[in-house]
Amino acid sequence: MIAYVECFVPENDSESRPDGGVSSLSKALDLQGSVADCGADAARDFGGMNSISPLAFLRPAGVEDVARVVKAATRSSNLTVAARGNGHSINGQAMADRGLVLDMRSLGEHFRVVRARDGSFYADVSGGALWEDVLKRCVFEYGMAPRSWTDYLSLTVGGTLSNAGVSGQAFRYGPQTSNVTELEVVTGKGEIFNCSETENSELFFGALGGLGQFGIITKARVLLQPAPDMVRWIRLVYNEFDDFTRDAELLVTRQDDGGDSFDYVEGFAFVNSDNPADGRPSVPLDPQETFDAAHLPRTAGPILYCLELARHYRKADHPSTVDTGVKRLLGGLGFVEQLKFQVDISYVEFLLRVKRAEEHAKANGIWDAPHPWLNMFVSKSDIADFDRTVFKKILKNGIGGPMLVYPLRRSKWDTRTSVVLPESEIFYIVALLRFTPPYPKGPSSENLVAQNQEIIQYCTKKGFDFKLYLPHYISSEDWKRHFGNDRWSRFVERKMCFDPMAILAPGQKIFSRVLNPSIS
Ligand code: FAD
Repeated sequence: MIAYVECFVPENDSESRPDGGVSSLSKALDLQGSVADCGADAARDFGGMNSISPLAFLRPAGVEDVARVVKAATRSSNLTVAARGNGHSINGQAMADRGLVLDMRSLGEHFRVVRARDGSFYADVSGGALWEDVLKRCVFEYGMAPRSWTDYLSLTVGGTLSNAGVSGQAFRYGPQTSNVTELEVVTGKGEIFNCSETENSELFFGALGGLGQFGIITKARVLLQPAPDMVRWIRLVYNEFDDFTRDAELLVTRQDDGGDSFDYVEGFAFVNSDNPADGRPSVPLDPQETFDAAHLPRTAGPILYCLELARHYRKADHPSTVDTGVKRLLGGLGFVEQLKFQVDISYVEFLLRVKRAEEHAKANGIWDAPHPWLNMFVSKSDIADFDRTVFKKILKNGIGGPMLVYPLRRSKWDTRTSVVLPESEIFYIVALLRFTPPYPKGPSSENLVAQNQEIIQYCTKKGFDFKLYLPHYISSEDWKRHFGNDRWSRFVERKMCFDPMAILAPGQKIFSRVLNPSIS
């Protein structure tokens, strides 16, 4: 069988794939699933800046198929395997140059809600499930929901758990990686393991935030809580960055003193202009509301800030109870009083809010254009300097999309996972979600990538305590620096243990495939 797989591996780029034979590949691999057309999905991602053709795009029907494919790769001289979630990476992380790409969404439906001995509820879900499907099944069938989300839910469970999975609930519950208790994983040796904090714990913590380097997540057990019915979604405008960060930090730490708090805290910077994409009109939540710039103080600069909050409630709650609770939580905050926007929507609608933006962006042609995004974690001690140089100077004209900036708390993250964070307890996620319209012609993606590099270089030169989120590096020196000495040693040890031939997730460009000398 392996000789058969090997014969599909072209010697060099110019050699074409033997199209006629690919359909026989599933037979050779003894797959229950199928082999898809390589052309489209497997060779591209949301970033739209890389196109790398795999040898084959496989649709595994279950965990055994995944294990079979990885085992076949271990017996080949140089094949690699990339799990592809929904391909929402930016820099080709889910691609495999002439390797095998697994379409994780084909894994098949696996969903069940279980109750643990301590009374907690969990959902067992497929690693290839989209979070939006997990949401709908949990809420509509059980009245329950995961505690920690991403902003956008057309992402897969395995894809976000391989990074972290961050949204406005993370200040309270930590990222998604802090909200799973068990995984089923196929290692780079093609072995299937269940793992948790107490069983195969090195693999469990390694896989969480592990950039796909130690195993392919085929199932996850996700902690649930009762789902609310409704959400009051609020946006508050700030003129000064200091006021914005003071209030944001107050809100993400307040519950520790036993106080009440919002259920979701995020924030973003926006341009003091009338640009609908990233200026003042992007702030109001209700189409009936308008942003009256006359309310801004005279001192308002080129960049303004918005705190985005949500408060859960039940349909049965009296409106005045909700009003009073929200009013109490907003008391003492220093936003521009007349620039407060709010809507009440269902919990599911709130969590699917970016889906509406997606539909809009698809209609405008900016969803499929390149996305040179930059995501980073910047320590509280450096965020004011970051604001002065990056937001107020480098990005003073905006980026055509959201510039998220909001605080997170290190103590809510499990540092046994592979995720890398700044040192300080409070750090900010900064997400430059660039949407560049193809027409009229804007700056090229090369220029925008160069601007991202300028920002990273500035942070490095100033010695900021920062890390890239969804990191992308090419050189091993940069990867080592990213992890830091101790964490890098642990990362390498885990790699040696679970994927010694560096079969998995080659698109991350961290390790090179160890060639198998016994097969020529
Ligand atoms: P892919 O891009 O397909 O894969 C990502 C990496 O994980 C690859 O290396 C791949 O090989 C590996 N991988 C995929 N599946 C598995 C698996 N089952 N087991 C092991 N490894 C696997 N992130 C946030 O944290 N918060 C957000 O709010 C957020 N919003 C986003 C909004 C948009 C519009 C987009 C495009 C991305 C957003 N992201 C966000 C980033 C997102 O978390 C990453 O893109 C992530 O990679 C998930 O995407 P995916 O499921 O498509 O995985």
